[in-house]
Amino acid sequence: MIPLAKPYITDEDKKAVLEVLNTPYLSLGPKLPEFERVMAEYVGRRYAVAVNSGTSALHLAMKALGIGQGDEVITTPFSFIASANCILYEGAKPVFVDIEEDTLNIDPDKIEDAITERTKAILPVDIFGHPCDWDRILPIAEKYGLKVIEDACEALGSEYKGRKCGSFGDISVLAFYPNKQITTGEGGVLLTDDEDIYKLCKSLRNQGRGETDEWLTFERLGYNYRLDEMSCALGISQMKKIENIIQKRNEIALQYQKLLQDIEGIQLLSPMRYVTKMSWFVYVIRVQNNRRDELMHKLNEKGIQTKTYFYPPIHLQPFYKQLFGYKEGDFPVAEGVAKETLAIPFFTQMTSTEIHQVAEAIKETLLVKDQ
Ligand SMILES: *Cc1c(COP(=O)(O)O)cnc(C)c1O
Repeated sequence: MIPLAKPYITDEDKKAVLEVLNTPYLSLGPKLPEFERVMAEYVGRRYAVAVNSGTSALHLAMKALGIGQGDEVITTPFSFIASANCILYEGAKPVFVDIEEDTLNIDPDKIEDAITERTKAILPVDIFGHPCDWDRILPIAEKYGLKVIEDACEALGSEYKGRKCGSFGDISVLAFYPNKQITTGEGGVLLTDDEDIYKLCKSLRNQGRGETDEWLTFERLGYNYRLDEMSCALGISQMKKIENIIQKRNEIALQYQKLLQDIEGIQLLSPMRYVTKMSWFVYVIRVQNNRRDELMHKLNEKGIQTKTYFYPPIHLQPFYKQLFGYKEGDFPVAEGVAKETLAIPFFTQMTSTEIHQVAEAIKETLLVKDQ
């Protein structure tokens, strides 16, 4: 079986986690601020707040920016559900804007049309690791006085015109679920340059405790979104090899590109010129001629795992349709793309043999004409 994704865990990583277990500090110990320092430094932000998932980080971003009932937040329908759900958590309304055909990111040209008096923020997602075209998004936010939340959960290490993803939002968010570039098991981090946001999020993650962390005094309604010490230690250890991880993943993507580019009926995603460094989260191909599901089933029969990232798009998820009355045809680019995209096996330690096996299986299936 060739899995879709697999965490890359070394003996060093295991040792780092075990060391924590030999101390009395399993939560709120020294690894938490150390991990936060590592992440803030890597991305080039002043502050980092580590939490127990990317979704938690997105939720705190909404709280910290004061987004709530009656507010609208502009975002993309072609993403993981969490990037829109976080808006609903606080009673605000996600307003979707269709995507660009070539990057699969929110289309900057369509953002202004979606802005109303209620719009408070824009939440773009660097999808599959491909940076948004920030120079076309940030000026719009500036012009209308909107906050920017960057969901960079899939883009750790990617760079836009020499600047790292995770550095573009008033608040940016990264995530470390086991299928991401690095993992902490569950985990996420919120990044900002604003000291007030930083302090507020630290409090919100820890049950609303004050700055002194006085254990039984609570200054506001907070949550338990803490990231434990084992996870932080794993994150610190994983970050030591981040450049190596990104490079290996780039080599795999390059091999895939060479092997798949000439297959008829397949379209590959290639980074735009403004992407000065690509950190691939998943490797997604577009399968044309309505053959995506057939390919998925054939690969599955051969023990090759795939997933239809992201089908259906968020606005056509059952409860979004129910809540907001969205229907087929509302965001045609996202819908068209979502019918074609298929993520194929992609993980840091993937061997050349495995890559060839996947490519061969795809070729075999698509060379046979659909009956
Ligand atoms: C992974 C991911 C998240 C966060 O997911 P968690 O499982 O909560 O860590 C958020 N947005 C996007 C686009 C993601 O891919």
